[in-house]
Amino acid sequence: MNKVTFKIDLCKGCGLCVTACPKKIVLLDEKQINEKGYHPAFVIDMDKCIGCAFCATMCPDVVITVIKGEK
Ligand code: SF4
Ligand code: SF4
Repeated sequence: MNKVTFKIDLCKGCGLCVTACPKKIVLLDEKQINEKGYHPAFVIDMDKCIGCAFCATMCPDVVITVIKGEK
C-alpha cells in the first residue's frame, strides 16, 4: 500500500493538496487544530491512494511525503 504522511504542525490548511488529489481522498481535518491554529490535511482512505504524489507536489510548505508501496 502507498503511504502518505503529513508533518501536521507545518500545515497551513490552504487546501491545495485537497484540490490536487485525483482520488479526492485528501481532506482538511475539521476535528483537529495544529500548532499554527489550522485544520491540518489528512488522507481519509489510504487504500484508494494511487501514489501519484500530486498532493506532495502541490504543497507549498513541503508538509507531505508520499512513499509508493509494493502492489
Ligand atoms: S499520492 Fe495522489 S492519490 Fe495519493 S493522496 Fe496524494 S494526490 Fe491523492
Ligand atoms: S497543501 Fe500543504 S499546507 Fe496546504 S493544506 Fe495541504 S498539506 Fe496543508
